[in-house]
Amino acid sequence: MEYKDVTTAIEGSWNLSFWEWKLESIALIRKTLEGLKEHKMLANKCPNCGLVYFPPKPFCRCLSIPDKFVEIKDTATVTTYTFTGAWAYEGIADDEVSGTPLIFAGIVFDGSDTMTVCNLNDVEPEQVSVGMRVRLRWPDKIEGTLNDLLHCVPL
Ligand SMILES: [Zn+2]
Repeated sequence: MEYKDVTTAIEGSWNLSFWEWKLESIALIRKTLEGLKEHKMLANKCPNCGLVYFPPKPFCRCLSIPDKFVEIKDTATVTTYTFTGAWAYEGIADDEVSGTPLIFAGIVFDGSDTMTVCNLNDVEPEQVSVGMRVRLRWPDKIEGTLNDLLHCVPL
């Protein structure tokens, strides 16, 4: 690899309003995270096209601002999934297969129009399918972070 002692500059204009956009996103997520502490799933809805975003988004794909919070359910449908771990790989000798596969799923909570990601628990990988119904496994101690949304189980 070749290393250079020269700094390369790229001229252009940079829209610094993105920083404000990030702050708006944090505020939106904070409201949702606070709702989790009361077992509420708060999404935001676009007044123009009606799409419901979970987690909330500051701008809709139709470029309107989703400005109304709506409560959605903690039940969801699996839209995609994958496995991790040695279990998932064919061709490995039996004595090399170890560990428990993690199942990552894209899910859409009932009442939302957008996908989020979770781990599926209490299910074998070969039992998972697109369209499978699942429910959020609320943690014993809700912390009001995105980790509260980490695990789902079959209905
Ligand atoms: Zn919209």
